Amino acid sequence: MMRFNISDRYNSFYKMKNTLPTLIIGAGPVGLAAAAQLELRNEAYVVVEAGSQVGASIRKWAHVPVFSPWRYMVDEAAQALLAQTGWVAPDGESYPTGGEFVQRYLEPLGALPAIHKNLRLNTRVTHVVRDGYDKLKSRTGKGKREDAPLMVTIEAQNADGIISEGQILAKAVIDASGTYETPNPLGASGVPALGERAHANRIFYGIPSVLANDRVRYANKRVMVVGSGHSAFNVILELVKLTQSAPDTHIEWAIRRSDFGQMFGGLSDDQLAARGELGANAKRLIDNGTVKMHTGFKIAQLAQAGEQVRVMSDDGREVLVDEIVACTGFRPNLEMLRELRLDLDDRNEAPRALAGAIDPNLHSCGSVPPHGYNELKHEAEPGFYVVGMKSYGRAPTFLMLTGYEQVRSITAAIAGDMKAALDVRLVLPETGVCNAGLGGGGACCAVDPAIGATAEQTSDCGCNTGCCAEPAAPSKTSKLISIDSLFR
Ligand SMILES: Cc1cc2nc3c(=O)[nH]c(=O)nc-3n(C[C@H](O)[C@H](O)[C@H](O)COP(=O)(O)OP(=O)(O)OC[C@H]3O[C@@H](n4cnc5c(N)ncnc54)[C@H](O)[C@@H]3O)c2cc1C
Repeated sequence: MMRFNISDRYNSFYKMKNTLPTLIIGAGPVGLAAAAQLELRNEAYVVVEAGSQVGASIRKWAHVPVFSPWRYMVDEAAQALLAQTGWVAPDGESYPTGGEFVQRYLEPLGALPAIHKNLRLNTRVTHVVRDGYDKLKSRTGKGKREDAPLMVTIEAQNADGIISEGQILAKAVIDASGTYETPNPLGASGVPALGERAHANRIFYGIPSVLANDRVRYANKRVMVVGSGHSAFNVILELVKLTQSAPDTHIEWAIRRSDFGQMFGGLSDDQLAARGELGANAKRLIDNGTVKMHTGFKIAQLAQAGEQVRVMSDDGREVLVDEIVACTGFRPNLEMLRELRLDLDDRNEAPRALAGAIDPNLHSCGSVPPHGYNELKHEAEPGFYVVGMKSYGRAPTFLMLTGYEQVRSITAAIAGDMKAALDVRLVLPETGVCNAGLGGGGACCAVDPAIGATAEQTSDCGCNTGCCAEPAAPSKTSKLISIDSLFR
């Protein structure tokens, strides 16, 4: 591995913090929207993308139809830049797949000469720090931690596959790296189940292309899908379609929750019709017995059983399968931010001021109050922001529109336009769940002026009484073993 410095840290240009560029991590829809905003404001920026193309994470679920119509998927600043090149927006009422979204929107956006020249593909951010200060250090001589520029360590891969390391100083960093690369494990307690890592070759984390690229892997196999969100619905529905041409395909569906509650969403009440329909189609498969359901199935262990894998729950149930699809959600990669003093919620790992408004234990309506610079800044780390899917931490309800407004506000602040930064506006389509007979009614979905409210403060919204919360059931059998037995 070579080591080089992209920027000369001692060059007087880089010593002047305000002349440094803003560094955007990730060329997904939110990172590229941030680039478009900075471009329109004539601000210097660099977009660093780990993948070899823009939209690298979405390409992993390219076959999946999205549930937002096009009109909710395009950022205004990006559209303004694209319009200058004669780009024609797709029909606002139609629904692309992930792949079509990348091809018709993200690729043209990333190819705009103004953005392209600032885009570094095949370049992964490994750390974001404050130059010269670890997390503990507040002062060096006369220098104060918060006055130091941010410093980003990158690993860039060239055409021959050689990886070089470098460091870039930045006046601001916008982390739009998403969460798709860091899925949650199967283990119900948030860490890998016993045997999970040993059986990694039998587990797909995410949404496999069941009907096309991954067909052979699942055709005529016994497949367990784990999870109770829209990703699981997508996989289950595709597996059911697969049974038409591969009738020996068996589908087992395991969820942690002990009852369905609001799992299928607002159905016809959902303001995103495609999202409501997805839930309705999944529910139908349960109602008519097409899919074998395992509720309250908290995965504790995986073990080899001949050619198959035995999946064991914490209450002693066992299911034999050939393949497992983990749709267990995602979590933010915080390791690369470890030396920063971040103000994150200790439950869902979202910025604290936003966390109460998106806590899935309390809210399932999919809406969120307008927010931006003010809620996403970290007092102790001026200039650093987590945006997009990653800003929701472990909460699953993020929509692109939210991210577009986040970066509009933050880039305005970076450019010094505080009036625009603080004037946040956002109206999101709601899932319709909270209006569906939950006592608390619209209270959960209504725009909450106290966006900074903690989970406790908002727990009277009525939605914590069944829409998401899972009653804690004690395990019937224990899988805990004494440490001595390991050495017998
Ligand atoms: C199956 C699925 C369907 C969805 N459907 C919708 C929908 O219909 N409507 C909607 O509004 N939202 C939808 N979402 C939610 C969300 O809007 C998308 O996940 C969206 O892609 C999030 O955008 P993002 O820019 O925040 O992150 P991502 O799209 O995940 O982009 C992050 C980028 O950062 C790069 N990256 C990651 N780590 C690093 C690093 N260390 N250094 C450099 N680059 C890095 C990745 O390669 C990637 O290109 C869906 C999500 C999923 C998973």
